[in-house]
Amino acid sequence: MNIINSFISLFFPNICLVCRKKLTKNDIICKKCINDFARLETNKCLLCRENPAENGICQSCRTEFQFDGIVSVFKFNEVIQNLIHNLKYNEFKKIGIFLGEFLADKLSNYDFISKIDYIIPVPLHKVKKRERGFNQSDIIAKALSDKLNIKLGNHIVKRAKYTKTQTRLTKKEREINVRNAFKIKSHKDVKNKNFLIVDDVITTGSTMKSIALLLKEYYANQVYVASIARA
Ligand SMILES: [Zn+2]
Ligand SMILES: [Zn+2]
Repeated sequence: MNIINSFISLFFPNICLVCRKKLTKNDIICKKCINDFARLETNKCLLCRENPAENGICQSCRTEFQFDGIVSVFKFNEVIQNLIHNLKYNEFKKIGIFLGEFLADKLSNYDFISKIDYIIPVPLHKVKKRERGFNQSDIIAKALSDKLNIKLGNHIVKRAKYTKTQTRLTKKEREINVRNAFKIKSHKDVKNKNFLIVDDVITTGSTMKSIALLLKEYYANQVYVASIARA
């Protein structure tokens, strides 16, 4: 863990953030370390991890969460956790762009991607955004928008409530915590449209569920979700 942190603070642009090997081009992690990242299987539901899935989600989770599909690239192991932590708190935006490319590659294999009207990054409350300087989901969503040529819809949903950090909450507590946390800012961009909501990590899915329910309440057509990792 400390290796990654110390290297980022020292800023060695041509050294792999994981193994410290010298890199030949302008990458941040070497090919070997990328191959060691654990990929998620896609034939099982990414939420309940039990039932067979179509577009990453089973029928029963589809009903509960109102997601029409879910795409995530990596298992949440220590390396991914560190990278995302550094993206979030050390403003190492390059990590977001780098990881976003993997997600864009995976998404481009799905048929639904051609129907998406807007990519929506999970919004941070403006107070939190001010504290942190930026929203990590914005960075990932922007990378997807550029690579997949889909409009960025970061004006559509806003976080209306300053929610407690969710790290130590149970699934039920998280749902209560994020209930009514979001508001639609641009109604005209929701009706009959298809969305892809983007976050860095999916944990219980409750944050994205609350956005999906809200979009569907305002007559969104389909709502897909995507993340770099599934915790
Ligand atoms: Zn490496
Ligand atoms: Zn399921």
